[in-house]
Amino acid sequence: MSENVFEDAFNRVKSIGKSAKVSPEIIDGLMHPKAIMTASLPVRMDDGSTKYFTGIRCQYNNVLGPTKGGIRYHPDVTLEEVQALALWMTIKCAVVGLPYGGGKGGIIVDPKELSPMELERLSRAYVRAMADFIGPQNDIPAPDVYTNARIMGWMADEFEAIKRVKAPGVITGKPVRLGGSLGRDDATGRGAYLCILELAKKQKLAPEKTTVAIQGFGNGGYHVARLLQNEGYKIVAISDSKGAIYRKAGFDVDSIYKEKQKSKELKAVYCDHSVCELVEHETISNSELLELDVDILIPAALEGVITKENAKNIQAKYIVEVANGPVESDADQILDDKGIIIIPDVLANAGGVTVSYFEWAQNRQGFAWTLEKVHERLGHIMRSAFDDVWNLAEKEKRSLRDAAYTRAIRRIGEAIEAHGTRDYFNS
Ligand code: NAD
Repeated sequence: MSENVFEDAFNRVKSIGKSAKVSPEIIDGLMHPKAIMTASLPVRMDDGSTKYFTGIRCQYNNVLGPTKGGIRYHPDVTLEEVQALALWMTIKCAVVGLPYGGGKGGIIVDPKELSPMELERLSRAYVRAMADFIGPQNDIPAPDVYTNARIMGWMADEFEAIKRVKAPGVITGKPVRLGGSLGRDDATGRGAYLCILELAKKQKLAPEKTTVAIQGFGNGGYHVARLLQNEGYKIVAISDSKGAIYRKAGFDVDSIYKEKQKSKELKAVYCDHSVCELVEHETISNSELLELDVDILIPAALEGVITKENAKNIQAKYIVEVANGPVESDADQILDDKGIIIIPDVLANAGGVTVSYFEWAQNRQGFAWTLEKVHERLGHIMRSAFDDVWNLAEKEKRSLRDAAYTRAIRRIGEAIEAHGTRDYFNS
């Protein structure tokens, strides 16, 4: 992972903003996170000792609405990374036209080393520290890497206990019984899948002839793999943090998922009801997976996995960024020169925040939508955003990433100008 992930995110906004002829004042505004909170989180461990963890929350920009973004639990979380992720959230919400700004949070922790009760105490401690910083009207967290619906449920509960009100809109990605939305669980993968269907129309891809490799088999990676396989795409490689499996003839995604739930290991299996058998396959590394000769590569784990060092070895024709920031900015040009089309993270993984927005809207309305309504509205937003970005890229001869950033920065710029800028006051 890049040491300078924030600088990388920052430079990308600066250079795309400049080429899109956006006012330097607006770009400058995007270089300054609005507010950052770090807190020490004391947690009573199961053996009676107390351990201290660091919690971070960044509200990056709220010009278009309350800040919105997930909370990540990972030992490599840094302030830099949280700021980069919060900047990407600002761009992402603007690309798909949501009434949100961008934020992000994290705890420096390896959640796999905690017991379930320690994890609950840690999650509640995070909310106790952040209770005056977050809120349904100003900053709304959600799940990210190694956080899930249960953790969101604990967090919402803690917030409500502190504030002595019912405020389900403080956090999204909650369990459905605690005010979560139907369709939130697979929303990120579904959003990426909808982008791939649009891409397939534009590029005339036949699903059964299209091979796919997926790095990361968590919430984003699993669902996009499942939906693509149902559509006829051939999923030939899958990985998790421990390694990757490859099979030219393709995998049965649900069998592998079922086995992983049971044994916690990624195994190349085919299941007939409850009987799962190993299928012939190769074991490869995560870096080999990235360089496979496939049609579509989907990085769905962590940022910074495609760098200027390995970009020249990438053979995929399309990269669909389900993870945030998997391609470093200095790898972009190399991939562009090779003719690889990238659906950028700020578009490809926007399905998650879009259904989070639906959840927040339902919480505020006190009215639950059906799954069909969620899918219909998500489909509408993702298809229009994809078309908008694709058309802008064609019109202005830009990459899809440049076009997505251009659209977002212009939207944020229009909102800033609506408040009045130097040009307005000087004229
Ligand atoms: P998750 O915790 O559910 O899954 C992460 C997966 O990545 C796991 O399978 C894990 O084993 C794997 N992984 C971890 N380190 C790895 C490594 N070094 N190499 C290969 N695999 C590795 O997380 P998620 O929610 O699926 O998030 C994955 C990515 O998608 C992140 O970049 C996240 O920011 C982004 N994202 C997620 C959502 C969402 O709603 N879940 C929304 C937008 C973006």
